Amino acid sequence: MEKILVIDDSSVQANMLYSILKEDYDVTQVHTPGEGLSLAREGGFSLVLLDVVMPGMDGFALLGKLQEEPSTQRIPVILITSLNDVEHEAFGLNLGAVDYITKPYHPPIVKARVKTHIKLYRYQTQIEQNAMLDPMTGVFNRRSYDARYVSMWQDAIRMKTPISLCMMDIDKFKVYNDTFGHPAGDKVIYAVAKAASAYLRRSTDFFARYGGEEFVAIILGSSPETAFEHMKKIRQAVENIHIPHSPIVSQWVTVSIGGVTVVPKMGDDYETYLKIADTMLYDAKRFGRNRVVWTNEKLGQVQER
Ligand code: GH3
Ligand code: MG
Ligand code: MG
Repeated sequence: MEKILVIDDSSVQANMLYSILKEDYDVTQVHTPGEGLSLAREGGFSLVLLDVVMPGMDGFALLGKLQEEPSTQRIPVILITSLNDVEHEAFGLNLGAVDYITKPYHPPIVKARVKTHIKLYRYQTQIEQNAMLDPMTGVFNRRSYDARYVSMWQDAIRMKTPISLCMMDIDKFKVYNDTFGHPAGDKVIYAVAKAASAYLRRSTDFFARYGGEEFVAIILGSSPETAFEHMKKIRQAVENIHIPHSPIVSQWVTVSIGGVTVVPKMGDDYETYLKIADTMLYDAKRFGRNRVVWTNEKLGQVQER
């Protein structure tokens, strides 16, 4: 059931909205703008119904705040008010309210408008989520990666914590496609993504399809030793799926992984380290594939075998 937040200083008015909507939605009511703002920040609401005339901060000011903050700006807001002149209505809509309902209202009209905005919000959320995912594997796509690595890199700098960048690539995949066909190859990419992503589910992990049969992983806060060990497990997990490869290549489908762990400082360039991870991947291929190669200022280059 979608959550709706009603913000109205009058409990009589708030209760009226509550009784109109309670059957179809999970409605929470608060009576001060301050409570409204902090609840909206906590998240989970699909719609805010906001009274305009309130003591202290009025609804317009609160709407402005909700629109400014990244944590609340996506939530649609319907203004509900006795200010029924066109100037106020235009002002509220220009501030970014999705709708403007004047009192006295007819309950069926409130219901209908709420239903429409909840539906639009659901579509929008779905579209935004889909745009972040790779349709073939269901893991994050390149676009999400581009947004995410920036913030993770900044987090590492700010918290003075290690960050590990890893590139993973399926071994001799061209031969696989040539032997078993492209659709079978697609299934392999899916299976590999599924196996690897299962090991990278913490909020400090990130895993994405970088393109083709290449994946990228970012781990925040782990030592180089821990990150190296973790990627070895992932490499093993892929091998353990036991997807038969072309006999001229190997028994099973495998991946090679290259990575680097660094505690970045202000001004350090992410791309430089990603290139290092890519060089480690290249070395993993050169050294015979199906292995992890890692580097770090302290350890130097280490390899699985
Ligand atoms: P290496 O071990 O050196 O990585 O050898 P490789 O054959 O995997 O390397 P290469 O980069 O030459 O080939 C990658 C192959 O991956 C070529 C391409 O046909 C295949 N590939 C890339 N994207 C997809 C995809 O979405 N589906 C399928 N089935 N194959 C893909
Ligand atoms: Mg490959
Ligand atoms: Mg490749």
